[in-house]
Order: sequence, then structure tokens, then C-alpha cells
Amino acid sequence: MAQAPHKPLPKKVHIKTFGCQMNSYDSERMAEALEPEGYALTGDPAEADLVILNTCHIREKAAEKVYSELGRMRLAKERRRQEGRGTLIAVAGCVAQAEGTEIIARAPAVDIVVGPQSYHRLAFLVAEAWATGNGQLATDFPAEDKFAHLPERPQGKAQASAFVTVQEGCDKFCTFCVVPYTRGAEFSRAPAEIVAEVERLAARGVREITLLGQNVNAYHGAGPDGRPWTLAKLLRRLAQISSIDRLRYTTSHPLDMNDELIQLFDDEPKLMPYLHLPFQAGSDRILKAMNRKHTASDYEAVIRRVREVRPDIALSTDIIVGFPGETDRDFEATLALAARIRFAQAFTFKYSARPGTPAASLEPHVPDDVKRERLYAVQSLIDGDRHAFDRATVGRRLEVLFEGPGRKPGQIAGRSPYLQAVHVEGPKGLIGQIGVVDILASSPNSLTGVIKSGFEWREPAQAAV
Ligand code: SAM
Ligand code: SF4
Repeated sequence: MAQAPHKPLPKKVHIKTFGCQMNSYDSERMAEALEPEGYALTGDPAEADLVILNTCHIREKAAEKVYSELGRMRLAKERRRQEGRGTLIAVAGCVAQAEGTEIIARAPAVDIVVGPQSYHRLAFLVAEAWATGNGQLATDFPAEDKFAHLPERPQGKAQASAFVTVQEGCDKFCTFCVVPYTRGAEFSRAPAEIVAEVERLAARGVREITLLGQNVNAYHGAGPDGRPWTLAKLLRRLAQISSIDRLRYTTSHPLDMNDELIQLFDDEPKLMPYLHLPFQAGSDRILKAMNRKHTASDYEAVIRRVREVRPDIALSTDIIVGFPGETDRDFEATLALAARIRFAQAFTFKYSARPGTPAASLEPHVPDDVKRERLYAVQSLIDGDRHAFDRATVGRRLEVLFEGPGRKPGQIAGRSPYLQAVHVEGPKGLIGQIGVVDILASSPNSLTGVIKSGFEWREPAQAAV
């Protein structure tokens, strides 16, 4: 007699994501990988049969948050146990990779530890943990490509904008950074695989794709003839998917910002005028100690070329203050560089020593109060420039991709080409569509505007790929 197909019992999974956009993408893919096993997402950890913490190890604070969250999850697991319900706790992501065995020692309630290169094995690890009651550890860097072993992205989930990881890991070894150790060596997905994923997202109604990579502009995935494609070539191919209206990519490294990619800001209308290009520090001495392999003037030269082809571009960056040995004079060079460039956006961090990285053993450490003052100073400068950038868009007419409800009742919210949040009065039916908005005002974190009357909405994707 033929056996009935295996139909898993319905279960609930709660995923809490820490850190970067790549982790958000990984969380989505983990949820999708668990769906065929009967797991539906829940926002409430108390009703979850499986709790996954997808973690970040980039700074000490981010890693410590995981242990306090695990304390809360342990109590929830115990309450469920008293009610006769089982719970598995999994730690995924970069803390899992860096501290796998320590997690098991420090947090015995954890059942599964899975590194970022092994989450295609998650469904198997979960089944093993349920079946055997034994802890599962998967933190090696497997030879197989995890993307090739994940299920295809399912249809039917409406979403205006989506991330797609195209490149992972890093070979640059900046002395402060854990990424080369937690995400492993640089790896680019094949263009055909990426195009297929974007086509599936387009068929779901996605209008905007942000390509992700720790070093996205070093992308070099092997094309059908085995020859590597550049990021520019990949972007040009994705731009041919007619129902994808907007393309972005992040995060880039200044060394890989080549002319072909810069020229695309002029040549490809679907590529949005926004570039996130970390400079980290303005002092050449500190840049050298960071192993960034470029000077402040090299960075400015890249920015000049970008602005030549796209004068209105919104520039964004990452800045670290208080790297070991950073003097007041070094820090002033950081302020001066930021002031010359005038960023539309920036992410600023106090240096955090990460175990195992070369900078962790550099001296002298900058005292925390000095780091705090420098952070405040650079944030104030950036805030001023960000507000100036936003104010300069008041009075302009911009296309906005509406992504969800706004702050106030009756409002919807979306993003301008420059990635600014824009709020307007409008019906929810316009979510997922691109509209033309007259920008009326800017406030500290967003713009407000009115939908241009008489504008004909562009139809959402009809799988016209
Ligand atoms: N690949 C990107 C690049 O080349 O700049 C950055 C990736 S990293 C996930 C994001 C940002 O975190 C970095 O640009 C840096 O500013 C910051 N960061 C990384 N390690 C850090 C550390 N140990 N302390 C403080 N900030 C750090
Ligand atoms: Fe980390 Fe970026 Fe440097 Fe790579 S290039 S080591 S990801 S900061």
C-alpha cells in the first residue's frame, strides 16, 4: 500500500532578528525553510514551539543583548514546560558562529546553535532536536552553497520592497571587524540564481530590490559561461525585469567602487540615487591601522566621481570613533571629512573591541567618555547635514514607493528615491504602488507631502517579467 505523504503537524515559530539587513533577509529565508515542516510565524514567543534568535556579533553590545534575551526565553520555555508544552530554542547568526560552544555552556536552555552558513540545515537540526532531545551544533563552513539548498521563495506574500543577498563574507580583514570570521570568505551567488529569485519576488508584487552583501560591490558571481559578472552587469540584467522599478545595493567598499558601477547612476534610471559607502575614519594614520587600504583623499576622489555623474545623489556612510590610538587630531580629520562631503545619512559607532580581531590588542584604548563625546560631536554634524538634505527636497516632486500605513490614521508611508521616509494622506490601497508626491515639509526623521492630483498610478507587478 502506498504511504500517505508526510504532513507535518502545525507548529509556531518566533524569530527575533538582531543586527543588519542581511540578518533580516536570513530570517525570512529561515522562516520559509521551516514552512514546509508546518511552522507558521508568530509574533508572540510564549506561543512558539520554536524560538530563533538571529544574532549579531559586530559590536559587544549587540552580542550581549543575545544573552539577556536568552534569559527571558529560558523563563518562557520553563512556563511552557509546566503547561506540558515543549519548546526549542535556537541561536542563529554571527554570535552562534563566533561563540557556539560558549553559548551551550552559558545558556543550557539552548537546543540548537546554527551559524550563518548552515541555516539551510535548520529544518533537519530542528527535527533532530525534537526526535532525540539532544543539542545540535552546526557552525562549520560547509562546502555546499546554502542558497542552492534552500527551498524556492514562496509566492503570495505581498511586500513592496525586498532584500536579496547576492554576496556574503569578506576577504578584506579590516582590523576591527568580525565579519571575515563569522561569515567566512567572500562568496558571490550565481547571476542565474539571483535573477530567478528576483523574478519570483517580482511576481509577488515586489517593486524594489536591494541587493545585499558585506562587500556587495566586489560581487563576481559566475555567469552561464563561467566568466564572472560584475555588480554593474547584474544590476543591468535585473533592470530588464519590467515590474521591478527600483534597484539599490549595500554595503559597498570604496576600493571596489569602479567606473562601470559609478556610471550606472547616470545610465540606469531604475538604480536609485543613493549610495552607502563607509569611510570609517578621516585620518590616514587610523585608516592604515584599520587596514582599510585607502586614504581619506582616495575616498573623496570616489565621491567626486559619483557626484559628477549624479549630482543629486544621497550619500550615506559608516563612521567609527575611538579606534585604538585615535587622537583628538585624528578625530578632527574625521569631522572635517564628513563636513566636506555633507552626508544625507550616516551610521556612527563607538569602537568596540571584538575578541580575535587584530585591533582588539592595539594600544592605547580610547576611554569610553572620550568615545561618547566624539560620537556626540559627529552625530550632531551628521544630523545637521541630514536635515539640510531633507529640507532641500521640500518643494520638489518625488516618486514614492508606498510600503505601509503611516504614523497617523489615514496616512500611508513610503520611501523617496533618496531613501527618505515620506508620509502622505492616502488610501491603504495605494500600498505597494509608486506615486508622485509634492513634498511640503521635513521633520527630523521624515518628509510629509501630498499626492499629486490627477496622477495615474502605475499598476503593481502583473508577473510581467
Ligand atoms: N562591509 C562594510 C564596510 O566595508 O564598511 C561594513 C560592514 S559592518 C557589518 C557595518 C559597520 O559596523 C562597519 O562599517 C563599521 O562602521 C561598524 N563596525 C564594524 N566593526 C565594528 C567594531 N568593532 N566597533 C564599532 N563599529 C564596528
Ligand atoms: Fe568588515 Fe566591511 Fe572591512 Fe569586510 S570590508 S572586514 S565586512 S568592515
